[in-house]
Amino acid sequence: MSMIRLKNVSKFYYSKGIIASGISRVNLDLDVGEFVVITGESGSGKSTLLNVISGLDTYEDGEMYIEGKETSHYTATDFEAYRQKYISCIFQSFNLISSYTVYQNVALAMQIDGCSNDEIRRRVPDIIEKVGLSEYKNRKVSRLSGGQKQRVAIARALAKDTRILVADEPTGNLDSASAEGIVDLLTDIASDKLVIVVTHNYDQFKDHATRVIKMHDGKIVEDTGISATRKSAVDYPEGGGRAARTGEEKSRKSIKYGTQLLLGIRNTFNLPAKFLLLLLVFLFVVSAVTAQYVTVRQQKDTVSEEGWNNYFMNYNPKRIVVKKTDNSAFTREDYKAIENAPHVERLIREDMLFDSSIYMENDDFSFSGYMLNISNLEQQPDLGGMPEKNNEVVLSGYDDGWTFGENPKALIGKTFTVTTEDGSDHKIKVTGILLKKGDGSEEYGSSESEIYLSDAMISEVRRGMYASNSTTTMLINGNEETLFSGTGGLVVNENVPEGYILLPTSYDPMFKKGYAAGNEVKLSVKALYYQESLDLMIMGTYGEKTFQKKTGLKDLAEHDGEIFINPTDYRRLYEKGSFQASVFVDDTKNIEGMKDMLERGGYHVLVLKDHISNFMNGELISVIQLPMAVIICLAVFFIAYFVIRLILKSRAVYFATVRMLGMGKKPSKRIMRVELVLDCMIAYGLFLLFTYLNKRGIIHSDRLMSYLMYLTARDYCILAVILIIMAVLISGRFMRSIFRSSAMGTYREEA
Ligand code: ADP
Ligand code: MG
Repeated sequence: MSMIRLKNVSKFYYSKGIIASGISRVNLDLDVGEFVVITGESGSGKSTLLNVISGLDTYEDGEMYIEGKETSHYTATDFEAYRQKYISCIFQSFNLISSYTVYQNVALAMQIDGCSNDEIRRRVPDIIEKVGLSEYKNRKVSRLSGGQKQRVAIARALAKDTRILVADEPTGNLDSASAEGIVDLLTDIASDKLVIVVTHNYDQFKDHATRVIKMHDGKIVEDTGISATRKSAVDYPEGGGRAARTGEEKSRKSIKYGTQLLLGIRNTFNLPAKFLLLLLVFLFVVSAVTAQYVTVRQQKDTVSEEGWNNYFMNYNPKRIVVKKTDNSAFTREDYKAIENAPHVERLIREDMLFDSSIYMENDDFSFSGYMLNISNLEQQPDLGGMPEKNNEVVLSGYDDGWTFGENPKALIGKTFTVTTEDGSDHKIKVTGILLKKGDGSEEYGSSESEIYLSDAMISEVRRGMYASNSTTTMLINGNEETLFSGTGGLVVNENVPEGYILLPTSYDPMFKKGYAAGNEVKLSVKALYYQESLDLMIMGTYGEKTFQKKTGLKDLAEHDGEIFINPTDYRRLYEKGSFQASVFVDDTKNIEGMKDMLERGGYHVLVLKDHISNFMNGELISVIQLPMAVIICLAVFFIAYFVIRLILKSRAVYFATVRMLGMGKKPSKRIMRVELVLDCMIAYGLFLLFTYLNKRGIIHSDRLMSYLMYLTARDYCILAVILIIMAVLISGRFMRSIFRSSAMGTYREEA
């Protein structure tokens, strides 16, 4: 069985509609130990034959057997494996990687074979020594002479140590002195291999050849065996040498991941001009993508700052509404913890009150505003002074001539009446006024005026609010009866002792013997945030005659049907703590962080800016904005791709070369990916450095700053991921274009 057998093999070239015959119906048997010289005039098909044999090019017709195995079904990958295992190539044009050093070129062949670093370090210097290039070991190939280059190519073939060595006009580009050296080297290493040399100049090889094949017009016209002057056949007896070798040819190892990474990194930097060009392209990509990212982000933020909210009258975008996860009331500790958190501008403890306005009036003047705790007042009033008693208040509003009338000062010391939601009246006195500049047009919602109340006053108001916003039921003889929504019928009366309740006579029939007094009832309150119940004894009922005596009130008609209760019991039912608070952050960009922190601290959180309705709803705008950004990023992608393809034209030759050495598609792709991702990340790193210097004030660019203030650490990570994905896609595309043609094809295109 011969090593290589060709049966009627033909290869055609198709170019521009013309079919040219490369070789036609070639029959050939080749075996290890032969030194075959192929001659013939230019265009006779020598190179084509060699490329078909070495699997660098495909054939169209006939059969080729490798160690008896048919190859017509071979895929590109199969041929790569075949090349890696059997073939070393030497070309007229050297096909070395000119940006690598001599050492790196030779080592590359072994790396692609999956050799260990130890082995590479041990063998490569010996091989380089053998071809006489030791002193040029670390010189870049681009700086060697032609003869030296061909020696490197031979060294590389030696490093691969395969059983077939093909050489296509190895001396074609060399002067006769260098050529002689190369012929000697080739003969030297040919010993136990199948060597196939294509040459114009048969004379150079005639002393060493065991067989001469002459080609003409794509056909073999002469095939002569020469009684070997070659010693190798004797030196390497068929059996021993070959058997030993077969044993070595175990499973195909392939290039290590570490080596792929290393090559990727080396390729990134070994052509400085290209590296800088790529860096420029990626800086462009980074800035374009960042700009788009920021635009989308910014849009989201600004959109949500405009608009309105139906449930919260104050929809300042910096506001976060919080309540406790267990629905309990806020404690002093809760307030303290929140107030001391970073980025908290202020805390509104009485959130429910904050969203409902209070109305106060006397005979001369009326005023309405949002209720705030006096502890929220951060400065001395402009007019008057701070309150001292519980019923004293400070007003705040715009100094626009009508909020406080012509003469605000006149209001200081005046008493007003406030009616809380449960219908009770309170007297309050104004001690100070805070005058705000402007007309309030820049405020969110209608928070033009505020009224600062004492704790005691606030809890009164709050009680009224809870009372009127809750459902109160009364349990009589085990029957639950919803008596009133809010406090419609429940009224405070000092004459009713604690623990008792006074009902109208209409309740008497509900009890045994038609007599309510002395029975027990249970009052239950269901409010938004709490439930409370109270067992009370019926002190009696009131009718027309007993009303005045029992209640101390005059007109029954005004109070018909009311149920009277002691103020202390009333407070037990309705005077509760605050269950909802609002946090204002110092800047909207800190909202997300604040939200996370509060949620971790056991609060339910509502970020108002996320719940603001808007004309051209925020969603609508991002519906346009996001696709726009994606389209622009796609455009950036393609521009970058085409520029990078131009810059990396020489990489095509690089990958054709490593493919000839037997490297597969996947490792090639990975090497490219490493290079582009690395390049891209260096560009991104530069960008980050630039923004850092900007933040530190070392470089000044206000425009950039106003752009970047929208970005958080998370955004920078997302951006990095987007950029990496782009770099990976670009490299994938680039490699697909490289692998579209065969390794030889790439050379032909680039030549
Ligand atoms: P040699 O190496 O003996 O000079 P080749 O094998 O290179 O000959 O070429 C054999 C024939 O195939 C020639 O007629 C040449 O024109 C043709 N040929 C070679 N390569 C190509 C190609 N890439 N496209 C079209 N025709 C080609
Ligand atoms: Mg040729």
